[in-house]
Amino acid sequence: LAQPGVQKLSPYVPGKPVDELARELGLDPAGIVKLASNENPLGPSAKALAAIRAELDELTRYPDGNGFTLKSALAARYGVDAAQVTLGNGSNDILELVARAYLAPGLNAVFSDYAFAVYPIATQAVGAQGKVVPARDYGHDLDAMLAAIDDKTRVVFIANPNNPTGTWFGPDALEAFLTKVPESVLVVLDEAYIEYAEGDELPDGLDYLARHPNLLVSRTFSKAYGLAALRVGYAISSPAIADVLNRVRQPFNVNSLALAAACAALSDAEYLAESRRLNDAGMQQLQDGLRALDLSWIPSKGNFIAVDFGRDTAAINQALLREGVIVRPMAGYRMPNFLRVSIGLPRENARFLEALAKVLSA
Ligand code: PMP
Repeated sequence: LAQPGVQKLSPYVPGKPVDELARELGLDPAGIVKLASNENPLGPSAKALAAIRAELDELTRYPDGNGFTLKSALAARYGVDAAQVTLGNGSNDILELVARAYLAPGLNAVFSDYAFAVYPIATQAVGAQGKVVPARDYGHDLDAMLAAIDDKTRVVFIANPNNPTGTWFGPDALEAFLTKVPESVLVVLDEAYIEYAEGDELPDGLDYLARHPNLLVSRTFSKAYGLAALRVGYAISSPAIADVLNRVRQPFNVNSLALAAACAALSDAEYLAESRRLNDAGMQQLQDGLRALDLSWIPSKGNFIAVDFGRDTAAINQALLREGVIVRPMAGYRMPNFLRVSIGLPRENARFLEALAKVLSA
């Protein structure tokens, strides 16, 4: 029998794959729009693709287990030491490394209600307890999270912006929180979507590392950098924390294609800027369309919006699927009245809005 923490878990449910829905509906996959997994609709950077092709000649060797080149590039980019960087097989891997290294039965991790689904999975997988703190206006209630920390707490997971709600907090709130968290607690600041909010009123977690040695900032190449399929993410922390994570890491956790592509993507400033521009425009397009349908949503700084239908959305979701539109139901997040829609290309957003109008008027 699995250990008790695992028995209580349900598996992570990803967005329905396009091919699966195409088969079910007997449709051409090209006619299906998937706005369910907060992926970058732009396709990968041409530079990243070229780097992958160049790497294909050397598939028999193990990748660089220390990720020297990518760590150096990240260090140079963010003005940190390479010893502060930990690479992960997606940033999910970073979350798991944290759980493996810092949590155990008898200990707990604090995170918010409506937080990313992997926090409870990583926590319970190592037999630790997840302490779920009620949200405030669907966002993190940092004061309540502070109050939930007890002498068994070793980790706090916070995401800014948060997925699946898109909510965020500002620099003052982060500073106040970090100042009050005991030093014995590792704060994981998950910034998977931060590139979509740069220049807005969100804090840059890296600015807080020097004053808060118990802080770890995790980021990913899956979202604004458009490389979700390759699974590469990273953490920036003190060298001491990076050293701890490195002890429990799989020796070759990031593959060679991912390492090469991430390096190339990191240097492709134009691609990143285009991702951001497309997201800002798509956010506007979706909000205009939702307003026209008299729907409301949670204001979001991510590449997605949680739309509030004011009633259970299971039937709406099914009807959208029949229209060939895949979005993400939020019942698993205890938000059954919401559907989360990722921002796509202008024509994909339009397809979603048309399908939604049809479904709602049926
Ligand atoms: N954190 C948050 C808040 C996310 O939404 C996601 C992706 N859904 C991740 C981490 C993990 O992404 P990846 O493993 O692809 O880096």
